[in-house]
Amino acid sequence: MMNSISFVNSSSTTTADIIYLNHQFSRHKCFSRLPRDATPRDRRKISLARAINGSPTCSHVEIDQTLVSSSQATTRACSNEQKKLKIAVVGFGNFGQFLAREMVKQGHQVLAYSRSDYSKVAKEIGVQFFRDPDDLCEEHPQVVLLCTSILSTEKVLRSLPVDRLRRSTLIVDVLSVKEFPRTLFLRHLPEDLDILCTHPMFGPDSGKSGWDGLPFVFDKVRVGSDPTRTHRVNTFLDIFKHAGCRMVEMTCMDHDKHAAGSQFITHMMGRVLEKVGLSNTPINTKGYESLLNLVDNTARDSFELFYGLFLYNKNAMEELDRLDWAFDTVKMQLSGYLHDFASKKLMLETGNELAGIVSGKIGDDNHNNKRLMLSPPTNSYKNVTFTDTKVSEKMM
Ligand code: NAP
Repeated sequence: MMNSISFVNSSSTTTADIIYLNHQFSRHKCFSRLPRDATPRDRRKISLARAINGSPTCSHVEIDQTLVSSSQATTRACSNEQKKLKIAVVGFGNFGQFLAREMVKQGHQVLAYSRSDYSKVAKEIGVQFFRDPDDLCEEHPQVVLLCTSILSTEKVLRSLPVDRLRRSTLIVDVLSVKEFPRTLFLRHLPEDLDILCTHPMFGPDSGKSGWDGLPFVFDKVRVGSDPTRTHRVNTFLDIFKHAGCRMVEMTCMDHDKHAAGSQFITHMMGRVLEKVGLSNTPINTKGYESLLNLVDNTARDSFELFYGLFLYNKNAMEELDRLDWAFDTVKMQLSGYLHDFASKKLMLETGNELAGIVSGKIGDDNHNNKRLMLSPPTNSYKNVTFTDTKVSEKMM
């Protein structure tokens, strides 16, 4: 089948021409007329692009179908090309490498810079490693991905030569706290740069068998309205979407509230149980296995990461207090039961003794009970009261 075009000889149309005209077509396809500044060559090529892309205004021209399919293949190649990003990972430690592996797997070009020399591991992963941040920025990556520790982020950001980047570069972070980098970026990054705050809520351990269904939280903090910018941010997010993550768009503030109540508590319990020194037994229950896994998962993360979760999430202290309160409350609940049990036993024994004293007669039970009742455990928590079977909390 032939589409029609009159003024182009298909044999003289090069691949470069087709790429060019497809580009022009996509730039101008919304115009009903050709742009005013178009040169005669531009006009011819845009007309050809319209014909190839099925514009109704060009139905009178003829074009060889092979040219059409070759153009469509080129269009696909071009749009694939736009889906591949040049990403610079800053902070190539545990997590930076973990993310880089997936990005390389998906065909993105990954560069990296870190305080320590990771040239060897970078080479293995297929990442180009830079020892100097200036050299990295001069490569003009489309995305700079900060994977440094929470505690060092401000220092690293301040020392990053952002003026060497292209003005519209997208800056992304993966910190496990979100309000802190958001504020930092808005305060320190030039307004031209786009900002995306993210938290992949998994790590090298929990995500080692794939990212399917794992939550990925993101907040498009500042993204220019230009379609190339929105496309770029979406292309970056697609890395996680294509890997199967559950994409959750959420403000940094909401993230921190939720994360303090879930992630910080998880890490805290992991660290505490590690101190207890849990070990394998020949009769592990499922529940115990999950505790061992928790210790294993959290203890492998750096203490700096854990400290960052605490120090840079303003909700974490409140969660720590709640945990403290809950621990003491449960302990007191146990003491309460123990006290009941001990006092009943004591009353029984003492009652018998008294009964013996009064020549085998059981005395005034009520009186003895009152006299021998132990005082309830002192309750240092004003907001906790004891009932027979449960501790009730009166939040004040
Ligand atoms: P981390 O201990 O939090 O961070 C290690 C990274 O920070 C390394 O790249 C290290 O560089 C860099 N760094 C530390 N101190 C530095 C300093 N003073 N100056 C310059 N760079 C410094 O461990 P991580 O697990 O790799 O985590 C990295 C980031 O990912 C953190 O922000 C964390 O919150 C986030 N995150 C981690 C996980 C996880 O499961 N691990 C999950 C989600 C998000 P060098 O190695 O070159 O020294």
